[in-house]
Amino acid sequence: MIEPVHVVWVTAGLGCDGDTIAMTAASLPSIEELVEGALPGVPRIVLHNPVLAYENGDAFVQSMRDAAQGRLDPFILVVEGSIPNEKNKADGYWAAVGVDPASGQPILTCDWLDRLAPRAWAVVAAGTCATYGGIHAMQGNPTGCMGLPDYLGWSFRSAGGVPIVCVPGCPVQPDNFTETLSYLLQQLAGRAPMIPLDEALRPRWLFTQTVHEGCDRGGYYEQADFAPDYASTRCIVKVGCWGPVVQCNVGKRGWMAGIGGCPNVGGVCIGCTMPGFPDKFMSFMDEPPGAKMSTAAVSTYGRTVRALRQFTMDSMNREPGWRKP
Ligand code: SF4
Ligand code: SF4
Ligand code: SF4
Repeated sequence: MIEPVHVVWVTAGLGCDGDTIAMTAASLPSIEELVEGALPGVPRIVLHNPVLAYENGDAFVQSMRDAAQGRLDPFILVVEGSIPNEKNKADGYWAAVGVDPASGQPILTCDWLDRLAPRAWAVVAAGTCATYGGIHAMQGNPTGCMGLPDYLGWSFRSAGGVPIVCVPGCPVQPDNFTETLSYLLQQLAGRAPMIPLDEALRPRWLFTQTVHEGCDRGGYYEQADFAPDYASTRCIVKVGCWGPVVQCNVGKRGWMAGIGGCPNVGGVCIGCTMPGFPDKFMSFMDEPPGAKMSTAAVSTYGRTVRALRQFTMDSMNREPGWRKP
């Protein structure tokens, strides 16, 4: 088995480090299990992440230099944060990490990606900023930033022949990320076929179902029992939930150790795993346009079935007559 596998994690895109922080809550598997090689058949990793590393400054940047010069093969490149357009201005730069010893100038994030991506066995985008641009790529932003597939090209293939793997979410659901990483490690070890990805380069088994299909409040929707505000356990589509058209498993999987999961705990789904996020989902607290039509359609059926169920429930709440003295 090839091990260890280095994971070179660049957080120097336009981002908030939220995906790295989310990772510390992963448990299926945990980062610690991957670092310790505790999973049979999954190669041990050496994690180079500036937020979690003991090294700092130039000592940390050395791992990126080593990877760029072929001294850490095989390595998986993880990118967090969106990629700015460094060509849209006359002076200055948007994002950089480390200093070039020869010139004394900062090394641009884009330059690191140009050096690292072609050498990496696989390239993974962690979080919606790195996958599709995310919040920083909203219309009108000055950076011209974008996700990794737009920067490297949607048909990019890594040194291992793998397409860019996108694990969106703002932040990425921690177990979605570590599960994807462990899949790639098993693929690298020859124990798994090519990772199955959808047209947005997301792992298919994680991003095929909609939030709605796994939501605890789905029964309320079916019965047209819609909450008028947030202080309710009923369906929150009328106050802005986009769950019926958003591909995300957080409703099923929860946020940490199975706990939470946006609509389950009262937060409207704002579509953070989708390439159109955030622009196409705003304003966040308004009823989605399509929901007006679909909830109107479900209302007649839902109210009728709710009344009939109430009738049946009343009957089922009474003991059969022959048990009475
Ligand atoms: Fe932060 Fe969200 Fe961007 Fe991740 S996707 S870097 S959590 S803003
Ligand atoms: Fe669907 Fe959202 Fe209602 Fe849940 S809260 S049932 S995801 S519309
Ligand atoms: Fe994002 Fe919606 Fe999934 Fe919550 S449920 S993580 S808002 S896509």
